[in-house]
Amino acid sequence: MIPALMPTYNRADLPFERGDGAWLWTADGRRFLDFGAGIATSSLGHGHPHLVKAIAEQAARVMHVSNLYRVPQAERLAARLAETSFADSVFFCNSGAEANEGMVKAVRKYHAENGRPERFRMVCFEGAFHGRTLAMLAATGNAKYLAGFGPPVEGFDHVPFGNMNAVRNAIGPHTAGVMVEPVQGEGGVRPASLDFLRDLRRCCDEFGLLLALDEVQTGMGRSGKLWAYEWAGIEPDVISSAKGIGGGFPLGAVLAKEKVAEHLKPGTHGTTFGGNPLACAAGNAVLDVVLAPGFLDGVDRVARHLWRGMLRLADRHPDVVEGVQGAGLLVGLKLRPEVSNTDMQAAAVAEGLLTVAAGMNVLRLAPPLIITEAEADEALRLLDRACLRAKPGGEKEAAQ
Ligand SMILES: *Cc1c(COP(=O)(O)O)cnc(C)c1O
Repeated sequence: MIPALMPTYNRADLPFERGDGAWLWTADGRRFLDFGAGIATSSLGHGHPHLVKAIAEQAARVMHVSNLYRVPQAERLAARLAETSFADSVFFCNSGAEANEGMVKAVRKYHAENGRPERFRMVCFEGAFHGRTLAMLAATGNAKYLAGFGPPVEGFDHVPFGNMNAVRNAIGPHTAGVMVEPVQGEGGVRPASLDFLRDLRRCCDEFGLLLALDEVQTGMGRSGKLWAYEWAGIEPDVISSAKGIGGGFPLGAVLAKEKVAEHLKPGTHGTTFGGNPLACAAGNAVLDVVLAPGFLDGVDRVARHLWRGMLRLADRHPDVVEGVQGAGLLVGLKLRPEVSNTDMQAAAVAEGLLTVAAGMNVLRLAPPLIITEAEADEALRLLDRACLRAKPGGEKEAAQ
């Protein structure tokens, strides 16, 4: 019989009961170091006192009022996000896919209201992941995810990631913009080169297109800067955010330049829950921590420490690890074809370490941004043991 909880995921048999910082415990007392962070989402780890307090206090005062009224928490969060980024204006929603939908609608409306309604297509990339709504399935373009859901939504053209000639060739009279992840997360923790992002900016300027970045996974400090685009020294026209922005509370956002945002007038776009007092109290609490002096420098420092260790790990286990890729605290261990990322993930669980699989046989580490160097060292020690367990002819096969 089908489980009452719809079986859309292959779930590990690990019902966690409580968490503290980068650690999680099951009810039967097993402890795990959480380097998955709910897929790059629990940015402040578990039970962060400032976030817990903000949510509890706001929940007791007023949780939800709808967007028919002013929401001071949302106004404050939007102002802070605008002040610390390229953006002039922010739309709040509830998830990454919803943020991307809003972003693509904003891009299309911009052209429609500038007298170019024929410009509605986005250039997207092979290996992308933009979410599971019907339009974002089409933007993702993965045949496996699209299968069985009818004709894909029109308007998304895919080219190889990092290939500027292919981008230029894909641009036509119907092109509205380019949509790209600064680091492809689900697709395999593949970073775009900073030069590629700069070339995309120049190319969009040349053709009058909008540059739309999906920072759902890379944003809110994960790369070691507040937004990953900052590393390239460019300004996008619009970005989407979600995952870490609410520290585990569901919150998404579209951040846009005025020239884009001004086209989303009353009646053009909306959401019932988006930006409610509770969600924005969580968002403000996360920002309090991430914007505190020295916090992002600390993320950058611990990330570099983790990277050095990961490179040593790759050297020690050439029979398991092919390379290390990603940015900041979004790190991918590219595994050799003989070792599957799901086996490696299970080996890590057996050692007490939580990670997330990604495409192209990559094991993804996306720990909370609050990890210490000692916790990074502990994760490396556990990964070292997991490599011994997972390697061809290792403990896993010996046990069979
Ligand atoms: C997770 C993710 C999404 C989808 O976010 P949901 O909250 O699951 O809808 C979109 N884009 C990127 C880059 C992501 O990592």
